[in-house]
Amino acid sequence: MSKPKFQIPTGMHDILPQDQVYYEKILETAKKVFSFYDFDKIDTPILEDANLFIRSVGQNTDIVEKEMFSLKTKGKDILSLRPEGTASIVRAYIEHGFSSLPQPVRLWYYGPFFRYERPQAGRFRQFWQFGIEILGENDPIIDVQSILTMYAILHDLGLKNLMVRVNSIGDDNCRPLYRKALVKFLREKSSSLCGDCNRRAKTNPLRVLDCKNEKCQETLSQAPQSVDFLCDSCKNHLKEVLEYLDELKVPYCLDSKLVRGLDYYTKTVFEIETEKDGVRSGALAGGGRYDNLVKMLGGGDIPACGAAAGVDRIISAMKEIGAKVSFPSVPEIFFAQIGPLAKKKSLPILEDLRRANIKVGEGFGKDSLKEQLGKASRLGAKVVIILGQREALNNMILIRNMQTAKQVEVKQEDIIKEIKNVLKEQ
Ligand code: AMP
Repeated sequence: MSKPKFQIPTGMHDILPQDQVYYEKILETAKKVFSFYDFDKIDTPILEDANLFIRSVGQNTDIVEKEMFSLKTKGKDILSLRPEGTASIVRAYIEHGFSSLPQPVRLWYYGPFFRYERPQAGRFRQFWQFGIEILGENDPIIDVQSILTMYAILHDLGLKNLMVRVNSIGDDNCRPLYRKALVKFLREKSSSLCGDCNRRAKTNPLRVLDCKNEKCQETLSQAPQSVDFLCDSCKNHLKEVLEYLDELKVPYCLDSKLVRGLDYYTKTVFEIETEKDGVRSGALAGGGRYDNLVKMLGGGDIPACGAAAGVDRIISAMKEIGAKVSFPSVPEIFFAQIGPLAKKKSLPILEDLRRANIKVGEGFGKDSLKEQLGKASRLGAKVVIILGQREALNNMILIRNMQTAKQVEVKQEDIIKEIKNVLKEQ
């Protein structure tokens, strides 16, 4: 077959009808958890001022350096397709004066996000995330509530072997000391690190710890760890986070290499993935505390914490373990029509059935009864209602029980009552 003239842009994917059930199931499961934990929904635009992301995510991050889809409007504004959710929500929190509401403000979101990444398994250029932000509270219990909210959704979706990885990357007080020690280490080990690591060592040294190269990982296992450099306040914060996690009995581990790719994080960072026999799925959800971001974007001194989960990756994980999702019910009833008059009268009858909440399949476009009945049996319909020329003239209609082949003629005005009776007999 020759290639179609137009193909989907690289790194993007259609969500085909058969996959919609997964997206719906995830959204529905997430909504239940959000509602219990008192989150309100917020939608922000898909495009924002490019500088919003540059300021918040950070100039030297992969997202800003390489992955933003940006455009110039006719009015000469530079806008970017949102690569993540937090920056937009902080912008909205400041712009709508949410700091005057009772704190913390708890928000959730869902939608498409865009990163110009190298296409590979689990990495798309357009992907779906749901996420939460809790703004206006410092307490470490909020960090654990963010973890728990994401964990609960993944758990309720049937995912097994979930593992929470946690770390603290400190704050403005202690992170500079850690950064300095790390840079010194990276400089000393530069000959055993890849080109990417050496480049990042100068621009964003914490990200070096993320390198997937095995040789680099071996070298980096000796690297100084952020938890050893925490100031008292960050140390206590982490201690409390771990204590709450212990109480919850959520499986977790302290991962000294977890730094996350965005500049705005302070103190707690975390990711949730599945892990079985040492095989890790890669992050399904991730987040952390960002106590400086509201101020950095022009708001007050507002501590905050949040998390986002990747819907496409969750679906892959669900499919891998054959997690249960219910597929939409097929119609139990099929409507067949014969002849031009019957066809003309079909749509109002179908509309009556829809209003009565009766799901009906039909075979418009196939005028022969044989073809229509063929479609009805392919769909597995238990009952077929048939409107022929004679019935159309007499305001009657036939109801045929497909299992017993029994057929009755009823008045059109009684159709709903009669169908319900036939369905009861099934
Ligand atoms: P992040 O904003 O990078 O912390 O991402 C949060 C979650 O979104 C990750 O844990 C992934 O599950 C998902 N995610 C991030 N980037 C992508 C991508 N390019 N394609 C698919 N999912 C992604």
